[in-house]
Formats: sequence, C-alpha cells, structure tokens
Amino acid sequence: MNSAQTRQFLQLYAGSIHAHAQQLTDLDAAIGDADHGSNMERGMTAVLAALPERGTPAELLKSAAMTLISKVGGASGPLYGTAFLRAATSAAGKEDLTPQDVAQALQAGYQGLIERGRAQPGDKTMLDAWEPALHALPQGVAAAAQAARTGAEATRTMLARKGRASYLGERSIGHLDPGSVSSALLFEALAQALEHNT
Ligand code: ADP
Ligand code: MG
Repeated sequence: MNSAQTRQFLQLYAGSIHAHAQQLTDLDAAIGDADHGSNMERGMTAVLAALPERGTPAELLKSAAMTLISKVGGASGPLYGTAFLRAATSAAGKEDLTPQDVAQALQAGYQGLIERGRAQPGDKTMLDAWEPALHALPQGVAAAAQAARTGAEATRTMLARKGRASYLGERSIGHLDPGSVSSALLFEALAQALEHNT
C-alpha cells in the first residue's frame, strides 16, 4: 500500500460515507442521537480538505487522524482518529506497506479502539466489524471487508453495552450498530483501494 493507494482509500471512504450518510444517521436515530452520518461526513470532508499533497502512507493517515479527532464531536471521531493514529505509528517511515505491514497497522488501530473505548467484541460497537475483519485478513483484504459487513449485520441481535445505545438496554436489540456499518464501509473502501491500484 503506497501513498497513492492510501490517498485513494481515504477518498473512497469519504465518498462512501457521503453516499451512506443518511443511512448511518437513520441507524443512529434508532438507538442513538441521529448524528453518526453527519459526524462522519463532516469528519471525512475535513480529512480530504486537510490532506497534504505529498507524504508517506503514515503521514497521510496521521493527518486524517488529527482531523477526525479535532473535527468530529461524537464518540466516533476520537475512536476512528485513534485507530488511524495508531495505524500511522505502526506504518511510520515506510513508502510502501507490504500486506503484513497493512495487517499490523490495522491490528494496531484495533488495539487503539479497544484502549480508547474500553469495549469488547459483542458489545454492539464498531469493534464487531473490526474484530471479524482482522480475523479474516490473512485471506486478503476483500475477505476482511466481507467479514466486516457480516460482523456489522450480526450487531442487529446484540444488546448494546457501550456508548449511547447502551442507555436503551434491551431496546437496542433489533437494530444495526451505526459504527459497525461505517466500519464495514471503511474495510470496503480499503479493499477497493488495494484491488484497483496495485
Ligand atoms: P455519539 O455516540 O457520540 O453520538 P456517533 O453517533 O458518531 O457518536 O458514533 C456512535 C458509534 O460509535 C456507535 O455506533 C459505536 O459503533 C461507536 N462507539 C460508541 N462508543 C464506543 C466504544 N466505547 N467503543 C467502541 N465503539 C464505540
Ligand atoms: Mg450519535
């Protein structure tokens, strides 16, 4: 994964968030405060606006992280920001990331999510997309994206134990977790960027 692919990943993700903003907000309206789509869209628009013209994959990811942390007020901004920042730290200094480097960066991002949010898989959060995605990653990034999507679908039957949705208790059951869906979009964008540009 070189700089061009990293840039393309961020552009594809921003485009996908834009296309799915209403869906993400509707999901958040059911079990949260109806702002996940607008939070992510504001964040990713700002990420593209602030992205430096040149830089290593790590420098681009770090820029995205800083923007998400500073521009997104909801829980998701600091969480995604932390994931991007840890991924950037893991990838630092490399011009072209091997699949192993990408896997390590994603794993570091996932650890960051856990440390920042103190949730576990099964709590009906974005971790429920990330965890199966990382598990499937040895089969390739397309398999990871598919697993993230399946993981997001599986949040429907879960009881929320973290974040705003946890205030609903049993009433959180029957709805998809919005952050798990935006995370599935992230892995899909990553797969697309890596497939089409190698
Ligand atoms: P807010 O909850 O502040 O309104 P968003 O609506 O943008 O923020 O994001 C909500 C999403 O953030 C949830 O759907 C969930 O996936 C994720 N989330 C919330 N709390 C946590 C946590 N502690 N750990 C991991 N993910 C979390
Ligand atoms: Mg919300």
